[in-house]
Amino acid sequence: NNNSKIKNCFITGGTRGIGKTLVERFANDNYRVFFTYANSTVKATALEQQIQEQGLIAKGFQVDSRKPEMLSQLIHSIITEFGPIDLLINNAGICEDVLDVRTLNMSDFDRNVDINLKAVFVTVQAAIMEMPDRGRIINIGSNLGDIARNGTMVLYSMTKSALQGYTRAMAHALGKRRITVNLIQPGPIKTDMNPDDNEKADYLRSFMALPEYGKTEDIASLAAYLASDAGNYITGSIITIDGGMNA
Ligand code: NDP
Repeated sequence: NNNSKIKNCFITGGTRGIGKTLVERFANDNYRVFFTYANSTVKATALEQQIQEQGLIAKGFQVDSRKPEMLSQLIHSIITEFGPIDLLINNAGICEDVLDVRTLNMSDFDRNVDINLKAVFVTVQAAIMEMPDRGRIINIGSNLGDIARNGTMVLYSMTKSALQGYTRAMAHALGKRRITVNLIQPGPIKTDMNPDDNEKADYLRSFMALPEYGKTEDIASLAAYLASDAGNYITGSIITIDGGMNA
């Protein structure tokens, strides 16, 4: 069966920013790409069409990362219909700035943990049962998982740091199957989440060795390297790609 030669890639948060570029990159690298999103139905359809017009495959699903049963069910149904997930990329995330930490409450905690952390656990659990040897898991953290800089993104830093321990331990848990698990930690990348002309942009640039925002393609290139055979021996690694902001 010819279909079995096409690899399957599952990406959370594929409609905008880094996730959209990941969808484009891996479709171009001849993966059959499945991606999720929360709200951007119009963008999802446009992206599917754009990729289909190139003779490539991408399919979007409106599945909120806050719905773990739906997320898990989606992965199981993809595996049933199209075969195992070869490459899983946990990209969807939220970043909330809060000037006064006293205003944070339990529902803020739950939202951030559900999307940035719990959904990662959920997709991995759903995908690994059937993941082939030499499968790949790539989580997207943040350079703020290493250095917080200030006190306005407390829950963001908490969830992104938690991905470090999770990634390292899962690399050990899956290493015998030659599945690699890595964490990419971007610094400021120009997206809706972090426009390069927002009021904080100059503050962020002031810390960077290369005083400019990164491009979503920079992150996709690193992900493509990790997914390729060149990445066979890279696992449990936390790879920061931040223009030297944390250096
Ligand atoms: P954007 O806000 O530009 O895009 C977020 C994407 O994730 C969208 O496709 C969005 O879907 C989707 N998404 C958000 N929440 C959910 C949810 N609850 N369920 C399903 N999908 C969801 O983000 P970026 O591209 O900037 O960031 C991507 C990742 O990179 C995140 O994990 C972020 O923390 C990380 N990162 C980004 C940095 C940056 O400077 N941009 C720096 C460091 C890390 P929809 O369009 O439907 O809303």
